[in-house]
Amino acid sequence: MAIKERLRARKRLFWRLMLPAGLIGLFLYGLPVVRYLETFIPMGVCPSAIMPLLKDNFTGVLRPWARPEVLTCTSWGAPIIWDGTFDPDVAQQEARRQNLTIGLTVFAIGRYLEKYLARFLESAEQHFMVGQRVVYYVFTERPEAVPHVTLGTDRWLRVEHVTREPRWQDVSMARMRTLHEALGGRLGREAHFVFCMDVDQHFSSAFGPETLADLVAQLHAWHYHWPRWFLPYERDTRSEAALSSEQGDFYYHAAVFGGSVAALRGLTAHCARSQLRDRARGLEARWHDESHLNKFFWLHKPAKVLSPEFCWAPAIGWRSEIRHPRLLWAPKEYKVVRN
Ligand code: UDP
Ligand code: MN
Repeated sequence: MAIKERLRARKRLFWRLMLPAGLIGLFLYGLPVVRYLETFIPMGVCPSAIMPLLKDNFTGVLRPWARPEVLTCTSWGAPIIWDGTFDPDVAQQEARRQNLTIGLTVFAIGRYLEKYLARFLESAEQHFMVGQRVVYYVFTERPEAVPHVTLGTDRWLRVEHVTREPRWQDVSMARMRTLHEALGGRLGREAHFVFCMDVDQHFSSAFGPETLADLVAQLHAWHYHWPRWFLPYERDTRSEAALSSEQGDFYYHAAVFGGSVAALRGLTAHCARSQLRDRARGLEARWHDESHLNKFFWLHKPAKVLSPEFCWAPAIGWRSEIRHPRLLWAPKEYKVVRN
C-alpha cells in the first residue's frame, strides 16, 4: 500500500513538473533547447520477457537490448526498430532470397513537383532498398514535368496521371483512394511490398529491407515522447478518425507507411472510406489523412514500427537517441508550395 502511494505521489509530482515544462515548450515551439526536455519523458521499456521473442522474416533475430535508452517493442509484441537493433545484411540477403519487388509511391502535385521530386528520387537511388528490385510510382497531374533520373539496374519508374484537387488538404487525402486503386492494378501485381511516402523529404542513409513487414508504421518525430492523451489525434467524436483519451498507442506519421499489397489495400480502403463518411457529415479530421491513418493503426496494429530515426525532422535539433537518420524532412515552406 505504502509503496503504491509513494509511486502515485511520484507520478503526480512528475506530471506537475512536466506539465508546465510542456506548456512552456509549446509556447516556445521550435526552440530546440526547450524541446530537448522532451527526451526526459520516459518512452517506456520493452519487457525483458518479450525481447528474445522479437524477430521477423527479414531482419532475423533482433537485438532490442542494444538500445536500452529507448522503447524497442510495442505492447502487442511488434518490434520498434532502431539503429543497432537489426542486422541490415541479414535483411538484405533474406529479401534477395525471396526475390522481392518493392514499390515506392510518391505524389508530386502542383509546386511540390519542382520543389522536391528530383531530390527525393535521386536520394532514393542512393539509399532506398539498394540491391533489391524497386519500382517507383510517381503520381502527378503533369507527367511531362517529371524530372529525368538515372536509375540503377533492376529499378524502374512509372508515372501515373492523376487529376489535381484544388485544396492542398484534398490533394493529401485523395492519395488514399488513388493508392487503393493503384494497389488493385499494376502496382499491386508487380510489387510484393510497398512504401507510400511524402515527397517533401529526402533519403540520407540506408533504408533497406529491415523496414519490411506486413504492415509498417512510422513514429512521428515530433511526438514520440508525448503521453498518449496529449497526442494530436482527432478528438471530435463525430469523426470516423476519433480516438478518445484512453485510445491510441503512438502518434504515427503519414509521410511513411508500408506493408504487403493486401494489407495496404485494407489500409487505403479504410482511410478513403472514413474520409468520405466524414465529408458527407461536413467534417474534416484535424490532420486529414494522417488522423484516419492513426485510427486505422489503432484498430489494426502494425507488425513493425520504425523509430523516428527512419524519418527525422532536423528542425527538432540534436538528440543522442537519433543515431542514424534515414530520411530527413525538408524545411516546411508552405507559403511556397501550398495555395
Ligand atoms: N502533396 C502534393 N501537392 C500538394 C499537397 C500535397 O504533391 O499540393 C503531396 C506531397 O507528396 C506531400 C504530401 O502530399 O509531401 C503531404 O502534404 P504535405 O507534405 O504538405 O503535408 P505535411 O507533411 O506538411 O503534413
Ligand atoms: Mn510532408
